[in-house]
Amino acid sequence: MRRVTFSRNFTLSLSRTCRCYCKYCAFATHRAHLYAPDEVESVLDDAARRNAKELLVLTGEQPEVNSEVAARLRSYGHEDFTAYAVWACERALERGMLPHTNLGVLSKEDLARLREVTASQGLMLESVNPDLEAHRGSPTKHPARRLEAIRAAGELRIPFTSGILVGIGETPQERVQALEALAAVHAEHGHLQEVILQNFVPHPRYYGAEPAAIADDAQRSESHGRPAEMPAWGSDVTLDEMRLLVRESRRLMPDVGVQIPPNLSDWWLALVEEGATDLGGLSANGDHISPEHPFPSPHRMRKALQAGGHALTERLCVYPQYMDRDWLEQGVLDVIKASYWSFIPRRGSGRPTQRAIRRELVPAAIDRARHGAQLEAEELTALFAESRPEAIEDMRQAADELRAELAGDTVTYVVNRNINVSNVCVVGCAFCGFGQGRRSPDAYEHDREEFVRRVEEAVAFGATELCMQSGIHPDWGLADYEGWLRLAREVAPQLHLHAYSAMEVDHMCETSGLSPLEVFHRLRAAGLGSTPGTAAEVLHDGVRQRISPNKLPVARWVEIIEASHAAGLRSTVTVMFGHIEEPWELAEHMRVVRELQARTGGFTEFVPLSFVPYLTLLGRTHGIEEIPREENLKHTAAFRLALGRSVPNLQASWVKMGLGAATEALRWGVNDLGGTLMEESISRLAGSGHGVMLTADELIGAAHAAGRPAAERTTLYDIRRRHPVPLAA
Ligand code: SF4
Repeated sequence: MRRVTFSRNFTLSLSRTCRCYCKYCAFATHRAHLYAPDEVESVLDDAARRNAKELLVLTGEQPEVNSEVAARLRSYGHEDFTAYAVWACERALERGMLPHTNLGVLSKEDLARLREVTASQGLMLESVNPDLEAHRGSPTKHPARRLEAIRAAGELRIPFTSGILVGIGETPQERVQALEALAAVHAEHGHLQEVILQNFVPHPRYYGAEPAAIADDAQRSESHGRPAEMPAWGSDVTLDEMRLLVRESRRLMPDVGVQIPPNLSDWWLALVEEGATDLGGLSANGDHISPEHPFPSPHRMRKALQAGGHALTERLCVYPQYMDRDWLEQGVLDVIKASYWSFIPRRGSGRPTQRAIRRELVPAAIDRARHGAQLEAEELTALFAESRPEAIEDMRQAADELRAELAGDTVTYVVNRNINVSNVCVVGCAFCGFGQGRRSPDAYEHDREEFVRRVEEAVAFGATELCMQSGIHPDWGLADYEGWLRLAREVAPQLHLHAYSAMEVDHMCETSGLSPLEVFHRLRAAGLGSTPGTAAEVLHDGVRQRISPNKLPVARWVEIIEASHAAGLRSTVTVMFGHIEEPWELAEHMRVVRELQARTGGFTEFVPLSFVPYLTLLGRTHGIEEIPREENLKHTAAFRLALGRSVPNLQASWVKMGLGAATEALRWGVNDLGGTLMEESISRLAGSGHGVMLTADELIGAAHAAGRPAAERTTLYDIRRRHPVPLAA
């Protein structure tokens, strides 16, 4: 799945007075137009109420050329228009919004003044043709002036957005030349975060009317205005021409986003397929430049994109690679850290943390862990945060040695089938793409016939285990959960029933009034064979509060799993990592796991589950990206070392990381590849693209590819049949 981004913004057209006379522009006026400070404050309050993350400040160019505007600015206490824009940006920052300004061609000094209070700035190059009819009367539309300003922004290290206008009289060659010119400036300074490919659409004139009001109305009513006639100097643009420009942008600037405005044509989806990466700022108050064209709703775009395997996700106006002191002023960075910290990329060593990482502890910690010693929290924290390649290789080797000692060389797997009986859920975890409200069109609930059909399919497939987990269904009580177990046992008594997360068991306790131990006795009597150690996520209440505040707290998870062990049921244990957690929180997770295991010895295996962000709230609105493969593997080794001798089996989840990475993980401390699954919904609905089932042969093949023998196991790790490495031909 590929992410396609947009920014949730709100537009402030601070002044529409402009010194230029571009023929296509319905935004600018040559009369005095300037919002007063109290009007600005009121727009900003509205933006904050509507949860905008970005304030897009649009203006005409140098409005103070109009003497009335200049006089008003003076009366507000500002020496020039830039000072007023700075003031407005400061007010936005105070409200937790990140300003992105586009004030037209500015001097380097003015760009620098704005840099103090903005997260990013922008200026369209538009075209490299200096003689376009559409630009007559607009001296600052000369490409040399604009490239000079874009270059100055690069020298100042300003994260910058530029782009071209297509269909304003330029030739096809000139469009590509414009992209080449942008690529050349970007090669010098690396500051272009995205290029906009904007097709020109003719507008009606809005004499005497306020585009901001027209845009807001159009956005609220989702109604498009009537198309205006194409002027003689303009030209219609075809989809193929736009496709070519997307490809050229990707070729010339592979590290720069390609933005397509989704309100100006129906082809945005086709251009995403071609390689466009971004849909721009979807202003809650409409498009002030093309006010008669409302933005499609994110919900509608998300659905349309999802069908093609793309996940619509929010971004900030500043792209992740620029979120540091090199590119941003401290005051702006502080707003990101306070309000949007989850958008700050990991940079390979875990989240920025308040806690010191004691890297000097790593070599000795690896040595002790290699022999199964229990590590201290600070040591584990340092392992999870490690970024030095040689130290990571040492971790890998130590984890591999410990695996060989505790679990041998054999790579195990289980032939099993998942059944997620219903996805109806009332909990609403931010990391989950599976759970649905009861009234959601995507909600489902299997009936008995469907359930039986799936169990019979598992038997025909040769499964030994049925794994059952569902959402937290508001209508289900203990008897329903017992009912599914009894039905499965009736249809296939030979299957081991591995079922019900601690969250589901908590729900059974709540609805029945019974203790966890009593519930487990009942479930056991109904056929339960073991318990999945899911719903653990990160066993740290601070993390849980942030990603799943309605979920059971750590103490309750521990109580329930301990009760399952006390009832004679073994369980697995999981961790979900690679989202907002910090290294020391993973260290805490491992402390809880080890202590529980020391008390009960009930865990059969540890299963690291890397977070799949694409179709989850956490991924869509909090900027969390999928953990890179190398980081995933490093964490895998760290988990093995953190477990020491407490839990012998470490599983790689092919659903989360893909079979290729899972096979590689066999060198990083892993001895088990999990199950065939047959039906995998939870990761798939979060946007994982690694399939929903594997055959036993594929899992055996993966083990053999790693040069290791394979063996089919039962849920509780009894070996059923062995598959030695074939002798070389
Ligand atoms: S993770 Fe489980 S409890 Fe949370 S929303 Fe998804 S289905 Fe519901």
